[in-house]
Amino acid sequence: MSKKIETLCVQAGWSPKKGEPRSLPIIQSTTFKYDTSEQMAKLFDLEEEGYFYTRLQNPTNDCVAAKITAMEGGFTGMLTSSGQAASFFAIFNLCGCGDHFVSASSIYGGTYNLFAVTLKKMGIEVSFVDQDADREEIQMAFRPNTKALFAETIANPVLSVLDIAKFADIAHSNGVPLIVDNTFTTPVNCRPIEFGADIVMHSTTKYMDGHGSAVGGCIVDSGNFDWETHKEKYPGLTEPDPSYHGLAYFKAFGKGAFITKATAQLMRDLGSIQSPQNAFLLNLGLESLHVRVQRHCENAQQVAEYLDGNSKIAWVNYSGLKSNRYHELARKQFTEGRSCGVVTFGLKGGRDEAIRFIDSLELASIVTHVADSRTCILHPASHTHRQLSDEQLLSAGVQPDLIRFSVGLENVEDIIADIDQALKKTRL
Ligand SMILES: *Cc1c(COP(=O)(O)O)cnc(C)c1O
Repeated sequence: MSKKIETLCVQAGWSPKKGEPRSLPIIQSTTFKYDTSEQMAKLFDLEEEGYFYTRLQNPTNDCVAAKITAMEGGFTGMLTSSGQAASFFAIFNLCGCGDHFVSASSIYGGTYNLFAVTLKKMGIEVSFVDQDADREEIQMAFRPNTKALFAETIANPVLSVLDIAKFADIAHSNGVPLIVDNTFTTPVNCRPIEFGADIVMHSTTKYMDGHGSAVGGCIVDSGNFDWETHKEKYPGLTEPDPSYHGLAYFKAFGKGAFITKATAQLMRDLGSIQSPQNAFLLNLGLESLHVRVQRHCENAQQVAEYLDGNSKIAWVNYSGLKSNRYHELARKQFTEGRSCGVVTFGLKGGRDEAIRFIDSLELASIVTHVADSRTCILHPASHTHRQLSDEQLLSAGVQPDLIRFSVGLENVEDIIADIDQALKKTRL
């Protein structure tokens, strides 16, 4: 019987047997012992499952990955050292030099840079598309060497909501998988695999950890994409791997091929493993994720409604508002229509007043972070995106006056009172 999300948050991943610790143990060991040379040889040949070195796999990490996989309704999953590592692995597991992929343009700034600059240096090309464009326009970005389609369920920081079924359809009609970054919604609010996504990834640094304690990432594979049918595109998954004695991942591992390859090749060679200590902290966060996410969203809804009714505010973007262009889509895809705890808005008076407002806040702190228990604020044009001109900002979907407000778990009346007093200190 498949359990509900609340039960999975608390219990999935670690099921102790008789006499074993009730809470997830931290296996703080780089290495694992075997009795015979043959036992070790079988591990290296991927003939038997087992741990040998924490750069590739660690039992604590695997329990937490199994929990997130269950929450996403996936087949297998893995943890990575950061969300950036998860995005990189998800793409690099499919694309090599000379390959191409398509990505929504409204994505996290770090991911944009990874795709547009760093992957380009490795000979992997990306085409960015407007995710709200019609199918024909998005289709034009595809080429014979396109290997994947990528987007965020809710884009950070512009908060556009992805029509996942539309994107899955476009990806599949081109014979490529859809990779979705589900960081902002979390599986509590949305499970992209149910709408046709093939691979889901997260920056677990955000709501999943939820307390601003540990940087981390994860990748979950649905196991639904048929690599064999498109084998001319994915030789790395279907043809013998010379670095594993000619093992072919799809033939040997079927639905587990994608994650096995990412572990056996990419983790082995690039080593972006999450520390077991951080995986333990992540697991603590996951145990209360369903409770926290709900409260983050309730608080954000009230903050958005307050801002919407305030004459000093030029615009508010939050899909929980009925007037929002994504309201219906959010209701269709997200549990009880909940999206996330992040609200964006602009003040009348633009950039200068935005800075005055931010500096006057007392409870909300200025940090380069979102989605943790403490309310925090960022002005991308002055902070994360400050190297961009206004024109470049707009092409990345970030309005120069955009304020990103990450609503925390404090009492919502206190959060609104703080906004209210800071607005009074502006010249509006
Ligand atoms: C923060 C973030 C990332 C990058 O994650 P890190 O854990 O900081 O490496 C990727 N995607 C989204 C949507 C994010 O918010």
